[in-house]
Amino acid sequence: MFTFGYVSIVGKPNAGKSTLINTLIGEKVAIISNKPQTTRNNILGIKNGDNFQVVFIDTPGIHPSKNHLDKFMMKNVRTAIADVDLILYLIDASKPIDEDEINYIYKLKKSEINVMTVLTKSDKIKKSEFKADIEISSLQNKNLDQLFKRILDVLPKFESKNYVYDKEYFTDKPVRFLVAENIREAMLNALDKEIPHGVAVEIIKFEEKDKITIIEADIVCEKNSHKGIIIGKAGKTLKIIGQKAREESEKLLNTKILLKLFVKVEEDWRNKPSKLSNLGYNDNF
Ligand code: GDP
Ligand code: MG
Repeated sequence: MFTFGYVSIVGKPNAGKSTLINTLIGEKVAIISNKPQTTRNNILGIKNGDNFQVVFIDTPGIHPSKNHLDKFMMKNVRTAIADVDLILYLIDASKPIDEDEINYIYKLKKSEINVMTVLTKSDKIKKSEFKADIEISSLQNKNLDQLFKRILDVLPKFESKNYVYDKEYFTDKPVRFLVAENIREAMLNALDKEIPHGVAVEIIKFEEKDKITIIEADIVCEKNSHKGIIIGKAGKTLKIIGQKAREESEKLLNTKILLKLFVKVEEDWRNKPSKLSNLGYNDNF
């Protein structure tokens, strides 16, 4: 029998969603930081085997919407919940229980969709009293095989090999998108938390040569003062960002990269839907 299905990973910002997807897939498809709301698009991470193909959808955390970008993220959460075969609802074991969230989970459980609750970060000191279906630690690889087995158990079964996506690929995202995400991740990690959420990355050149790939990207921020912070004293911060993003992307592309970053100011880009789609944040996936 062949197993194929879609699995949405939902939960609060910082619950460990992106880390779980990357660990299950064994490749970096989603960026990770300890700052909430890192993930903007729904990422398809694909785990392939001889008898299965499981498509994971990473979602931005569930949270109230404030502006266009937030609304866009919430729309993605809703699309990710509809039409899937299973929802993995992640709860951070190191945070106290949130009654509103638990009520939401019970509501979800009553719906038609399969919901599996997963307590994450079981390596940390436990504060949550929630009795989840399974407890895992992505960082310590604890219970992940067991989790994946249970995922396979509940997904649809087929008589013949039903690979919906090319089984050579571990994501549906173009490489240039993953590179832009690596730049965003490097920024999230190098800068104060206020700035990176007001920042978008646009790849303007992607040229694959024999031994090296030349990539140029615009970093679009909202204020002149942000531009200064991103560049840093004598360009120091931008250099750190570029270096980290280049290293991560070289691992991804398996080639040497020349990465050039340019910082630009576009006031209020977050509230311009057209700008969002120009920057690759569209809902066509
Ligand atoms: P997301 O916002 O739900 O996608 O969460 P991330 O996957 O980006 O993770 C948020 C933070 O939690 C990061 O700093 C991760 O390194 C950390 N984290 C994720 N999984 C684990 C885990 O199993 N154990 C511990 N101790 N930390 C984790
Ligand atoms: Mg994430």
